[in-house]
Formats: sequence, C-alpha cells, structure tokens
Amino acid sequence: MNAIGVDVGGTKIAAGVVTPEGEILDEVRYPTPHSPRKLVENIARAIMEVGEGHEAGGVCLGVPGLILARENKVAYSPNLHAVEGIPLKDELEPKIKLPLTIENDGNAAAWGEFRFGVGSEADHLVFVTLGTGIGGGVVSHGVLMRGAQGSGGELGHVTIHATGPRCACGNHGCLEALASGTAVGRRARELAVENPDSALGRLASRRQVLGEDVTDLARQGDEAALSVLEETGRWLGIGLAGFVNIFNPEVVAVGGGVMEAGDLILDAARKEVLLRARPPSRDLAEVKVATLGARSGVLGAAALARDEPSGEYLLDG
Ligand SMILES: [Zn+2]
Repeated sequence: MNAIGVDVGGTKIAAGVVTPEGEILDEVRYPTPHSPRKLVENIARAIMEVGEGHEAGGVCLGVPGLILARENKVAYSPNLHAVEGIPLKDELEPKIKLPLTIENDGNAAAWGEFRFGVGSEADHLVFVTLGTGIGGGVVSHGVLMRGAQGSGGELGHVTIHATGPRCACGNHGCLEALASGTAVGRRARELAVENPDSALGRLASRRQVLGEDVTDLARQGDEAALSVLEETGRWLGIGLAGFVNIFNPEVVAVGGGVMEAGDLILDAARKEVLLRARPPSRDLAEVKVATLGARSGVLGAAALARDEPSGEYLLDG
C-alpha cells in the first residue's frame, strides 16, 4: 500500500505519495505559514492535494523539534514555534480522513536513508543532516531509536565544546553551533576579518558571506575558505567519533545543504573519527555522504507511516 510522507520545514511543506519500494508517485509543495491555524490548514491541503487519485494507507508527518509521541505533538521547535503544542493528530485526521502519526524530521530522514538510501545495506546507521541547524537520527538493529518520549536522536545538540558559541537551543558548544550551515557562515565572517586579503576577505568587504560562497571559494583554492571547511569538518568529526563509540554503526551518513562541500568537510571529519573513536567500531564505520538529498524526509516519513502505522509501541508502552 502507498503511504503519504510529509516533510514540514521552516520555509516549505513537502508532501509525497510513496510506494513501498520508495518511488515518489506525486509530490506537492506549500509554503510554511508561521501561524498555527494556517500551518494546520496548509499541511492538510498538501496531504489532500497530493493524495488525490491515489490510494494511501496512512500519513506520517516529519516535523522539526522535540516530539511528545504519546500526545502526537511537538513540545518545542526553535525554528518553527507555530507547530508547538498543536494536537496534530486530532486536528488533521478529521480533515484528511487517514490515520496520521508524527515523527521528528531528522528521525524521518534517517529512516529514509536507512530504507532507500546510503544505509539500505546496513542494520546500524547514524545519520546527521547539516543545514541551518543539525538534525539526525539513529537506527540500531534495524529499529529507529526514539527514546522514552519520542524525542531522542537529537544528535545536533550534543555538547562538543564546553565554552563554544551559543546554540539556537540555548546551550553553548553544541555540534549544531559548530558544524551547521549557520556555523560555517559565522566562522567565515570571522576568518574574513582576520584575512582581509584572502578571496573570502575581499568578498566579505562587498557583501554578506553565505555558506555556499565558502564552498565556491574553497574549490577555487582560497586558503581562508578552505580552513573554514576544515575546521567545520574537525568539529563534525569530534561529534561523529562520539556517535561511533556509542552506536557502533556500519554507516555514518552526512546529508544537508552543507554537504555540497563534500570531502572538503568530510576528509577532516574522517581523520577526527580515526583519531578519537575506539577500535573496532572506528574501523567498521564508513563516513559517507547521504544519497537521497532533500527527498529523505518525505521518503522516510512515508516508510514510517507504513512500517509503524499506529506507533503502537509508544502508545502501549
Ligand atoms: Zn543546541
């Protein structure tokens, strides 16, 4: 049976009808409104529009933030406050007339990569996505790890530098504060000031430097831009080394917009994993670029709607 996966992001809502084999039959996108009532309206509209003319057994919503699975709602979402506290299942099911579950967006994307992407040959996968923030998820023994309340797998908010920069979550020195796209931009602006004669410094004197500028300049060989990405990779690797020690994964997949930089970041991360993680885990874990791109959220959510249609283990637990 087909299922509908929805990826609710900070700027857009993507919904897709997905076959059991992971083929997207239809997809729609709507803007993400930042008022609770309009947000629910647009999610419902996206689901109904994409589902038209298709048979689907259920829907799973991948949403940013900390999930309270038993209540089917989001407790806290720093990048999308409008979604906080809405009883999403109660609000949406009468409109869409399909069973609905919710999942953290990072967990949904991890499940997508596990079922259809870079982790499809593995039983143990750690996935992180480097975007504006850092999301992630862990699959162990083929099971998505969610913790007692459904809010586990927040890999971006592991502290890796006690006195590091402040994170969007309020803590200091989270992985997200040091290796996200936001962190790349901040560090690039700092290094531009320290190296005014570099290509990075010259660009920064004309306009605001963005994450993608850093990758472009690094590819052209600019030392300052290269060191921004290498530093980012080192911080990422410190985080990943911890995950390798804890979870002993076969694959560590890294996705998100920042991965446009590919090995310019990952080579430094791999070095750090080899230095810091313990054998035999460190020798098994392959650090790879995720393969599904922006579709991992929709594919993973749809697969979760099918694999765990009622979220039973949580509701009965
Ligand atoms: Zn944080």
